[in-house]
Amino acid sequence: MIQITMPLNFLGSVYREIRQALVDMGEMFDLLEQPAEVQDKPNAPALKINGGEIAFDHVEFGYDANRPILKGVDFTVGAGETVAIVGPSGSGKSTIGRLLFRFFDVNAGALRIDGQDIRDVTQESLHQAIGVVPQDTVLFNDTILYNIAYGREGASQTEIEDAAKAAKIYDFIMSLPDGFDTQVGERGLKLSGGEKQRVGIARTLLKNPPILLLDEATSALDTETERDIQDSLKAMGQGRSVITIAHRLSTIADSDRIIVLEKGVITEVGTHDELLANNARYAAMWQRQQSEEDAA
Ligand code: ATP
Repeated sequence: MIQITMPLNFLGSVYREIRQALVDMGEMFDLLEQPAEVQDKPNAPALKINGGEIAFDHVEFGYDANRPILKGVDFTVGAGETVAIVGPSGSGKSTIGRLLFRFFDVNAGALRIDGQDIRDVTQESLHQAIGVVPQDTVLFNDTILYNIAYGREGASQTEIEDAAKAAKIYDFIMSLPDGFDTQVGERGLKLSGGEKQRVGIARTLLKNPPILLLDEATSALDTETERDIQDSLKAMGQGRSVITIAHRLSTIADSDRIIVLEKGVITEVGTHDELLANNARYAAMWQRQQSEEDAA
């Protein structure tokens, strides 16, 4: 019996690993590829950016027809504003990001950028306008140079170096024996979470998009790295419209506006101080996180 169950256990764990790898790949393709169901309209024009105002107009959405996820979500991010979305796990925060990128179309309502319904413009121009800094930056199995240059075709060496400096990764790169030609990824140098994220920031700075979608890292970075990354993200947000999907409140307290999302419904909107004064959901979340951080 033992002879049979041992290999079966082993196969079980191999199966779980393969399944996890497929899930990870699925997430990566989520970022890089467009599901086939979302198509450009014939002769769709390119999105014209005029400041980068984002409007979610009574948006309803569900991945399955019988399970609504966003239920009439309505908010505007003015040109150059920074808006954070907070809320419990599963409330629909990341879904808001996926809809902005038009991985899926809304079921009702509309999503507009500078007054243009994103279903009416080309996806290429939409993606061009939005820079995404995800929780985990996907690195290609190539050089650091390639991984940053990917942000914009035709960027010069100086522009790439400037982006690396602004993302505070330049000195680290120059300390490596092969500098910008260092191979990274699966078969090359393994970068830490913070280093990967800075490569992602450099890539996005090079792209220079008017709109930023930041999916704040949940993975713990040490406090100093965390502060540096927050500084880089803040500097990058200057003069752009920013939506931050936030998991920890301490990093988004100075946003122009904070939106609390619960079960697909906006339950509170305001600045950090306004929401604390409300003494409702946000204030409770803030107090809980503060006492958790104090305990830690
Ligand atoms: P977290 O803070 O845990 O990341 P979230 O607020 O970002 O959560 P979403 O990822 O937007 O939550 O998910 C909202 C709901 O939609 C969840 O119940 C989730 O199970 C469901 N969901 C997310 N992605 C899909 C998908 N591709 N297909 C079906 N359901 C999905």
